[in-house]
Amino acid sequence: MDAQQLPPVWANDVLGDVVISESEIASRVAELGAAITADYAGDPPLLVGVLKGAMAFMVDLARKVELRVDVDFMAVSSYGSATQSSGIVRIVKDLEADLTDRHVIVVEDIVDSGLTLNYLRKYLLARKPKSVEVCALLVKEGEQRVSLDLKYVGFTIPPTFVVGYGLDVAEQFRNLTGIFTYIGEGRHE
Ligand code: 5GP
Repeated sequence: MDAQQLPPVWANDVLGDVVISESEIASRVAELGAAITADYAGDPPLLVGVLKGAMAFMVDLARKVELRVDVDFMAVSSYGSATQSSGIVRIVKDLEADLTDRHVIVVEDIVDSGLTLNYLRKYLLARKPKSVEVCALLVKEGEQRVSLDLKYVGFTIPPTFVVGYGLDVAEQFRNLTGIFTYIGEGRHE
């Protein structure tokens, strides 16, 4: 990938290499937006962003979809440790939109085990939408514990912990423009 983007000075001590640079994200997001535009031309979808991780992706993706889409957000919190999802999800903020007879696209930051998304899909399907599809920016290679049908995927990445472009550690680093591996405090020489 693009090794050109260096971590910014303010985060340089805890970040490793760039995994996906700002420019790579921008061109892939434009492709995903074009694909959604073509696929839903006759019946624009509701884009459902999953907070907070999908915040940057949702904002950029929605502006690349050239249709009369509407957007809504959910916030979920996953029980389990920071690095291991349990699959039991608590809805912290529910949708405001009525899903009945609507096409829905869930806009997700990253799919790791897939348990969060699996839960969300079932939860949304219970509201009688016309369809529920997923647009995930990142999917971790070989990590899925459930089989998921992901209609749109930005990038497949190795199973390392990453931050930036919405993804955090303890609520920080969401404002990085690219996606970087996280090394952590005190791990540099
Ligand atoms: P899953 O249920 O697929 O195992 O976990 C998905 C959620 O775990 C994501 O929405 C995200 O919040 C979190 N997550 C998984 N991998 C990473 C990662 O590499 N970095 C960060 N910051 N969060 C992650």
